[in-house]
Amino acid sequence: MPTSNAAPVAPFQPLGIFGGTFDPVHLGHLRLAEEAREQLGLPEVRWIPAGQPPHRTGPRVASRHRLAMVRAATADNPAFSVDSAEVESDAPSYTVTTLERLRGLEGARPLVLLLGADAFLGFTRWHRWRDIVELAHLAVLTRPGFQFDPAKVAAGEGMPADAELAELIEGRRLAPGGSASLREGPAGSLVFLPMAPLAISATDIRARLGEARSVRYLLPSSVIDYIAANRLYRPE
Ligand code: ATP
Repeated sequence: MPTSNAAPVAPFQPLGIFGGTFDPVHLGHLRLAEEAREQLGLPEVRWIPAGQPPHRTGPRVASRHRLAMVRAATADNPAFSVDSAEVESDAPSYTVTTLERLRGLEGARPLVLLLGADAFLGFTRWHRWRDIVELAHLAVLTRPGFQFDPAKVAAGEGMPADAELAELIEGRRLAPGGSASLREGPAGSLVFLPMAPLAISATDIRARLGEARSVRYLLPSSVIDYIAANRLYRPE
């Protein structure tokens, strides 16, 4: 069962879902979740750290540590909750499987999968991606350094070169200001949410820690303390 800081809400209120490796969780992740919460009026954003992600080489640190860091980072936000099911499962982490599980638990409640722009650019390579958009809405937020800008797409420009992705956007995007209609159905719409770009990456943080350099102000101090106490990401 997910552990939740959030107060109980009516079942039709949309549930934000934010998956990732979080290796480690940083302020770019936290701002993305907070922007989506605020811009979409989400009563809850459920963070789901991946166990064994199929799309990339394995995370640097064990899933129990990544889960503990997400718990530490989100503990002070009453709208954030943490779902440990992927970490506790031996099966590979597929977003579609997680969404099928949540759909079973949540009935017709709107589900909103949160993605950074880089993740969205690779979306049509995800396992059963067409089923994902039948199970959840997608909200795509700014990530600097990638050839895709949600602010431009929200204004009707800057479509991606990938024809399938462009078709997905054309067919399903909500008009700017229309995100309230995410509440009217359980799944199937796309919304593009500009946010102040934060060029923070977990890869860069791991590199800095590997060289014993400072990571202050890139991630919450509670996470920095956890990394130090558990001697994670140390020079090899
Ligand atoms: P790396 O930084 O090494 O590329 P990552 O942080 O992108 O790793 P994940 O932890 O799996 O890897 O990312 C989870 C989600 O957070 C993805 O949807 C990703 O697009 C988004 N994300 C990560 N960093 C940022 C950022 N700085 N700004 C906006 N979105 C981000």
